Amino acid sequence: MEKYYHSTRNKKVKALPKEAVLAGLASDGGLFVLDDLDQISLPLADMMKMDYAQLARCVMGVLLFDYSEAELDECIRLAYQGQFDDEAITPLVHSGKDHILELFHGPTSAFKDVGLRMLPQLMSVALKKEKDARVMILTATSGDTGKAAMAGFQDVDRVGITVFYPDHGVSEIQRLQMVTQQGENTFAVAMKGNFDDAQSGVKQIFHDVDYQSGFKTKGIQFSSANSINIGRLAPQVVYYFDAYRQMVQCNQIRFGDVIDFCVPTGNFGNVLAGYYAKLMGLPIRKLIVATNANHVLYDFLTTGVYDRNRPFYKTISPSMDILISSNLERLLYDVSGCDTAYVQSLMADLQTKGRYCVSQAILAKIQETFAVGYASDDQCRAVMKAKYEADQYVLDPHSACAYVAMRECADENIPCVLLATASPYKFCGSVSEALFGEQESDEFAMMDALETRTHIQAPKLLKQLRSMPIRHQDVIERSEMKSIISQKVGVLWQ
Ligand SMILES: *Cc1c(COP(=O)(O)O)cnc(C)c1O
Repeated sequence: MEKYYHSTRNKKVKALPKEAVLAGLASDGGLFVLDDLDQISLPLADMMKMDYAQLARCVMGVLLFDYSEAELDECIRLAYQGQFDDEAITPLVHSGKDHILELFHGPTSAFKDVGLRMLPQLMSVALKKEKDARVMILTATSGDTGKAAMAGFQDVDRVGITVFYPDHGVSEIQRLQMVTQQGENTFAVAMKGNFDDAQSGVKQIFHDVDYQSGFKTKGIQFSSANSINIGRLAPQVVYYFDAYRQMVQCNQIRFGDVIDFCVPTGNFGNVLAGYYAKLMGLPIRKLIVATNANHVLYDFLTTGVYDRNRPFYKTISPSMDILISSNLERLLYDVSGCDTAYVQSLMADLQTKGRYCVSQAILAKIQETFAVGYASDDQCRAVMKAKYEADQYVLDPHSACAYVAMRECADENIPCVLLATASPYKFCGSVSEALFGEQESDEFAMMDALETRTHIQAPKLLKQLRSMPIRHQDVIERSEMKSIISQKVGVLWQ
């Protein structure tokens, strides 16, 4: 039987990987999944000798099976070569007793680069089949996705990108990163409301067949760069294997030993990639999900009730200020025994009541693999200070949440790899305050002060932000989303 991805809500809504990469979301609003990941057999022992690019080809080859080896090699080269400030792409750092996988060495200093350097390459290859097609990427961002996506898609042929970020909902550095983005095909728009408003606004446009059909006749389709796209998910599976390889290589574990991972979590994309790595045979015991004061996932993973009807808090870890974790739908599909009708009913409950409840059997199944913790801003600040004073290592606020959760959940006999998802220099204010109890008034003064005091270099591209011209100034209400998209499409292609 031929292999396909299909929607989490209906097995008849099918797509090959290239089609799924272009579409983002399935046409029925579900997410694309591939069945039987646990039947895939990867040459794990051989993989321990591979470099990052080889590992990427090996892992992505099975997930994106209609891409040829040559196509993947080219995508990997264009996505990563010379783009990261560390040759290892995702280096594993041993600091004190901790193993920290630094995912933030890409051009925008957040882990999103790993997926979002790759997605545009995968889309470009997929577009070759469709001669006149053009794609407008629409993406909601809680801060890091937007910049990484704009940077990844900058000047990519036949693709435009419009990013919606919550006005006043991102850090000053994150905002500057977006509004200074170069490239005639990139657009950043501030939207009044929070991240969930932006995300549900974008989702609504994907559901709006009438609105889209007007563009379709001109050969223009919409797609998403959010972490629901398998073109982002697949490259994220790679670094779990690479982390394991590095743990073996530096004799922290023996080949075959199980390890845990602890993951700062928002939209559930990063940690889901870890779950897929486990299904594909990587010896993972537990995946520890870390959240902040918006701990809807903590409540779900401990009680089985997912309830987004709650206050939304702005925290010092804004990329995790999320109440609807989209990728959770893929986990629900898997742990329900691939029951699309069940997933559909849960998602309908979420849509209409803002909540759903899974059976105790399903909760137990999830808890076999997933542990969960959350941290308040105060706990994050305390742990950032303690880690710095003990080992001169600076955690960003998201990684600090994970650090708190790791302390709570990890088993001292099982090594745990902490995923560090952002450079502390993206959040100079919170970091300075945590480490030294003070904040300068100006973002760049804080960056300089942090460098001087910690002797850790700030990423070059962040330092350059202070002299970059502002290119994107739109601020809109949610009701204006469609009209601004039409306007941007017009600027590009009419
Ligand atoms: C996006 C992001 C997260 C959350 O990752 P998900 O895949 O959405 O769970 C955590 N930390 C940082 C710094 C991020 O940018």
